[in-house]
Amino acid sequence: MAAPLLSLVVPVYNEEALVGPLVARCVAALAGLTADFELICVDDGSRDDTLPRLLAARAAEPRLKVLALSRNFGHQAAFTAGLHAAQGQYVATMDGDLQDPPELLPRMWALLRHDAHDVAYGHRTDREEGWGRQVLIKVFHRLFRDFSKLQEADNVGNFAMLNRRALGALLGLHEKNRYLPGLRSFIGFRQVAVPYARQARPNGSTPKMGYGRLFALALDALFSFSDLPIKVCLYAGLFGMVVFLLAGVYALGSKALGLAPFGWTSLELSIYFMGSIQLLFLGITGEYVFRIYRESQNRPLYFVQQYYA
Ligand code: UDP
Ligand code: MG
Repeated sequence: MAAPLLSLVVPVYNEEALVGPLVARCVAALAGLTADFELICVDDGSRDDTLPRLLAARAAEPRLKVLALSRNFGHQAAFTAGLHAAQGQYVATMDGDLQDPPELLPRMWALLRHDAHDVAYGHRTDREEGWGRQVLIKVFHRLFRDFSKLQEADNVGNFAMLNRRALGALLGLHEKNRYLPGLRSFIGFRQVAVPYARQARPNGSTPKMGYGRLFALALDALFSFSDLPIKVCLYAGLFGMVVFLLAGVYALGSKALGLAPFGWTSLELSIYFMGSIQLLFLGITGEYVFRIYRESQNRPLYFVQQYYA
């Protein structure tokens, strides 16, 4: 079969309630652009009815392909699996929870056609989300923008469209700790932002990335794209030295003035203080070592159970 013109990659994990509307809206948006498309839904090891429902939808829409992974590998790995499978000349990526509107695809497509740009990415100007999530996401994006030294890295996510040239570069990055929005920004080429408001999840569906997973993703992003953790060590260490010097002046002064013996409260406090700084150092160094270890293991990012194509 000839390669399609346009691919859309969508990871889904336990989204049974959304499969119907998701496929319908994506197919409608894609069909408005070209009949020659493929919609690749990556089932990231769902435990509910997501996979059977996708396969049922595929019976009615053969351009829907279903890439079932062998277990849950996490949504960055699921995206990567879909990108490897995608054959299109243009390839778009979108979350499967309808927070990113497929209706934005025509705008991205228009920017990429005729080779005007290589990458069009969604830039969230607004988002409907619980306030706790909002605050944390804001803090993360601010840190990431300031420390990653990547241009155009502010408030971007997985919603984007790339041409073959840019996708080739992206797939050439083999690191295991993946943060796709960062990698996509890293490759360069002619990128253009498409502003949009991120919607709330449809009623009755819950985020599949809990706070723990969001935090882990934020760490992946900050560790692989910035020196923030090392900087934290450095500044904490410097701060500890200043405190240590002040305490030293105080201790020597008390001795000189004959005010010794010295109370052991201050001693105790400084031991705790130095101890905690050292632990922080160890923890952060350990984190780097662990990441180097994981890269050097060089395990595949995912395994495919079956590709219904
Ligand atoms: N997802 C996935 N594997 C996972 C977790 C999530 O494929 O292990 C999918 C999920 O079904 C959704 C998308 O990734 O389509 C984004 O997940 P979520 O909405 O929980 O994340 P957020 O919108 O908070 O980034
Ligand atoms: Mg979401």
